[in-house]
Parts: sequence; structure tokens; C-alpha cells
Amino acid sequence: MSTTDPVTPLPGPIEPPPRLLMGPGPISAYPSVLRAMSAPLVGQYDPFMTATMTETQELYRGVWGTRNDATLLVDGTSRAGIEAAMISLIRPGDRVLVPVFGRFGHLLAEIAERAMADVHTIEVEWGQVFPVSAIEEAIARVKPALLGLVQGDTSTTMNQPLDEIGAICDRHGVLFYSDATASLGGNPFEADAWGLDAATAGLQKCLGGPSGSAPITLSDRAVEVVQARKKIEAGIREPGDPSASDFVRSNYFDLGMILDYWGPRRLNHHTEATSMLYAARECARLILLEGRETVIERHRVAGAAMLAGVEALGLVVFGDVAHKMTNVVAVEIPDGVPGDEARAAMLDDFGIEIGTSFGPLHGRVWRIGTMGYNAREDAVLTTLAALEAVLRRFGAAVPAGAGVEAAADVYRGASV
Ligand SMILES: *Cc1c(COP(=O)(O)O)cnc(C)c1O
Repeated sequence: MSTTDPVTPLPGPIEPPPRLLMGPGPISAYPSVLRAMSAPLVGQYDPFMTATMTETQELYRGVWGTRNDATLLVDGTSRAGIEAAMISLIRPGDRVLVPVFGRFGHLLAEIAERAMADVHTIEVEWGQVFPVSAIEEAIARVKPALLGLVQGDTSTTMNQPLDEIGAICDRHGVLFYSDATASLGGNPFEADAWGLDAATAGLQKCLGGPSGSAPITLSDRAVEVVQARKKIEAGIREPGDPSASDFVRSNYFDLGMILDYWGPRRLNHHTEATSMLYAARECARLILLEGRETVIERHRVAGAAMLAGVEALGLVVFGDVAHKMTNVVAVEIPDGVPGDEARAAMLDDFGIEIGTSFGPLHGRVWRIGTMGYNAREDAVLTTLAALEAVLRRFGAAVPAGAGVEAAADVYRGASV
């Protein structure tokens, strides 16, 4: 026996337990996404690889609702996309406005601060969204260079209406960036029609893949900002420009370099994460194959069924239901029910994961998602049946069968 032999037996090959992931994300991936990820690897400049990158860009134009050339993937989880967008679009000292209506608004503000922006926030109570007028008033007052606005904040389940924001940003000369990680694919999003300059997402919510790839799209105006920065870094400065050494400079998240890699010149940057590219491509392909509007409708019906189900179980829904994302609902944990123990029972006894909450909602609400592959009737009904059993076990008086029946009624009334 050599000294490098392990003392204990080596673990076996990876064998995760069967799980139905019904939390706020990550969710169970579409089986064909997992199959795509096990496809053989090719070299970085293999014609198949570059063609697949180009194909994936076109597929995501369809998902985002854009004709933006600069539509690509940033390798990394959703926040890789957020960070790439913020670091590349913000100059030190730029005023950035972040309307915060949940945890991910705080994340945008934090990342903007790290990019050395002069960050201004406005806030609404968790469970609400901003009236458009409040955002417009803040833009007029702060005069930011960039507005950073989450579309769907999973921490509160709220979906901030974005459709009128782009025109306001345009009038005030503000770049409009949105983090659509939680909402894209399950709720309407129209990058061009809504006047977005930059938008980012991840795969592990409504797109139905694993985390690890961040789709991003940039308007021509945003690309100009990125290119202007590249000029400064090359030593070409206009009056009033900061010097290159003032920028927060990342190599990995430098969108100028990433765009050159995805563009016609294919200038070497990182090695594109091949298996994640396959996954991202399959997520987008599935959405366009089923039809973008059909997928959104499937999420709407699954969300409506889950909502009807939890209400029929007597649970109190958190937040402004009229502005809820289709794909996740937050319910107050009934008095006397130990929230974490009940979630553990869902997982241990039924193999179903539902979500806890952060910040002011921690211990107060559970979050239940119906996203991507799991925006399905059987997943909704199974979750409600299990939830009823677990609630009863912990002493909550719940009407027998009511959750499943109310949800099934929604499906019977819908065409999906
Ligand atoms: C889930 C979520 C993320 C996740 O970021 P990761 O880096 O993938 O963990 C980001 N933004 C929003 C709005 C989300 O809902």
C-alpha cells in the first residue's frame, strides 16, 4: 500500500436521489437538456463549436425578443452576467439608480458599488412593485447614467412591469439594464420593444436548465459604451474621460473581450464551457420549439393552479398577487407549523423541494415554484398532495383534497 492510497473507500459514482425541485430555483432540468450536456466535446475552434455558438446566439435572440447582434452567453451563474454587464457598462463615479423591491435589487446595488458607481436606491416594501411614476421621478431626480432594475425578484415573487421604463430611460439618456433571471421564459420579456440596453439571465429558473450559464443581450447603444471603454483602455482618451487605471477592470467579465470572442473575429478569450453551451442551446431550442408564448402560457396556468391550490389549503399568499410572477408563489407558514421541519418532511418523505426565504421573510414564508420542466400539471398536483399531508402532520387543519382539486379545476378550465 502506498502512502497516497486513500484510507477510506472511494465514494461511488455520483447518484443523486430522485427529486422534484419545486422551489424558487434551481429547478429540475428538462431531460433533453441533461442529455445535451452529455454530448461529446469538440475543440474550441472546431467548425461545429463555432457554428453551435452562432446558432445559440440566434436562438437567444428569439428568447429575449431582440435583433441585437450582441446576444451571447457569459460563462458562470446568473451573477456572472450581472457582473459582466455592470463592470463593463459603469465608469467609476457614474450615478446608477437601483429600485430595490427584494433581495436581488440589493445585489444589483452591491455589484454597482463594487464597480465604483455612485449608487442611489429607492425602495418599496417587500411584496410590492414600483409604480412607473416612482421610477420616473427618481430618474429625473438622480439623473443616473444607468438604471439597474430586476424584472422578477424571486425573494418576494414580484414581477416589476418594465414595458414603459425603456421609453423613460430613452428620454433621460439613461442606459436601461434588467436582471431577468427569475422571470425570463415564464413571463413576457421583450428586449427590443421595451427598450432594454442590457439584460441578463441564468438557466436554472424558467429556462429549465442547470445553473452555470448566463444569457446576455446588449443593445447597439450598450455595445458603444463597451467599445468606448476599450478605446480608453487602449490609451485613446476624449476630454473628460477617466483614465483606464480608474476603471474596475476584470479580465473574465470584460464584455469587450467576450464580444470579440463571440463575434466574427473569434478572438481567444476564455474556453467556452462546451457542455453548458449545449445546455443553454437546448433550453432555448425547447422554448422556441414549443413556442415562446405557449411556454409563457404554460407557466401562467401552472402558477394559477398552484395559487388556487395553496389558497384552497387555507394558506395565506404573500404580496401583491396582481404583480406576482407566474412561476413562483410565496405562502405564509401557518401558525404553529415549524417551517424548516415541514420543508424537511417534504424533501425526506416525498422527494419534493420547496423554498425557504431570505431577509425579512425568513421563517415567515415558503416559496413554491412551477418553472421550466416542472410547470406541469402532475408536478403541481403531486406537490399540493404532499403539502397537504405534511401540513396535517404538523397539526394544521387543512381541508382534505381541496388543494389538488382546486388546482385540477384550473387545468380543466385551461387549454394547456
Ligand atoms: C435566482 C436569481 C439569481 C441567481 O443568481 P445566481 O448567480 O445564478 O445564483 C439572480 N437574479 C435573480 C433575480 C434571481 O431570481
